[in-house]
Amino acid sequence: MTEKLPVTEKPPAFEKPALLGKTRQELRDLAESLGRPAYTGNQLTQWLYKKRVTTFDQMTDLPSVLREQLTESFAVGRQAPLQGQESVDGTKKYLFPVAGRTVEAAYIPEEDRKTLCVSSQVGCKMGCLFCMTGKQGFQGNLTAGQIVNQILSLPEGHLLTNAVYMGMGEPLDNLDEVLKSLEILTSEWGLGWSSQRITLSSVGLLPALQEFFARSKVRFALSLHSPFDEERSSLMPVQNVHNLHEILSFLQTIQEEDARRITIEYICFDGVNDTPRHARELVKILHGLKTRVNLIHFHPIPGTPLKGSKAQAMTSLQEALATKGVPATIRRSRGEDILAACGLLSTLRR
Ligand code: SF4
Repeated sequence: MTEKLPVTEKPPAFEKPALLGKTRQELRDLAESLGRPAYTGNQLTQWLYKKRVTTFDQMTDLPSVLREQLTESFAVGRQAPLQGQESVDGTKKYLFPVAGRTVEAAYIPEEDRKTLCVSSQVGCKMGCLFCMTGKQGFQGNLTAGQIVNQILSLPEGHLLTNAVYMGMGEPLDNLDEVLKSLEILTSEWGLGWSSQRITLSSVGLLPALQEFFARSKVRFALSLHSPFDEERSSLMPVQNVHNLHEILSFLQTIQEEDARRITIEYICFDGVNDTPRHARELVKILHGLKTRVNLIHFHPIPGTPLKGSKAQAMTSLQEALATKGVPATIRRSRGEDILAACGLLSTLRR
């Protein structure tokens, strides 16, 4: 049975600028603009990202007059989730407020890792046929602070080992704020996470993808879903603008100098993209790319004729890829009963 977690009152949207989401340099500049030494910016950084405080009053090594000044003009930027739901399999879905709107984040506990699937936009512009977020349309970009807040204000935040940018939105369509959030997560002055603990998943927007590879070191997952142009266009309209072959060619080139892990995400639709013909074409287009294919169960959503592949078809696809030297795994489905699984996040109904 699905368990509802405690609900909190909806707090008002911030009226003051938030400090969460600022880099150490920005906090040093802010300190100087307030007539304080740049070092005060380092202290703010420590309080926000290492000690994870939620109020200025807790920043006890700052002079009380400065704490009052900060309280007057700024917000810390921490926002607890408004609501949570727990799945039978232990996956939890949380609803975070973001300036008058909401986004969802999914916490996925496994034996060896605890992962948060974070959102980067309210809704999404990409309109993928199989995705609830796509059906929601686009309502806005999240700031770096709103992205980092999902990690820091998660009730299980202290347990997290990994983060995946696979929640609501297309991260490369909000590149600057996403890159800033990655800098905060991976810098030694920030959360200090290894880049290998973070994966950004995208439909592949060029040139944002090139900039992402140049400016961050985190892992990358490409949402592929069909090796055939026309079919991919019908599933993912973005294919008409950013062609898969250009994206794969860029990834192959980058791998010559960049050893980070690249995976292929492939949602399996019954009779649509799970045939031997698809396996053969996948092997062909992925030739030369060091990668692993994640075959993902599809969860039917309203308003689409697509159905999830049968288990046997997914196993056959996996075997056909593996025998041709393309490693493939079938990803276990999590949180389906609370609509937290892949492609099911949406705040349209909120
Ligand atoms: Fe947007 Fe990703 Fe959903 Fe496509 S799958 S509509 S890119 S959130």
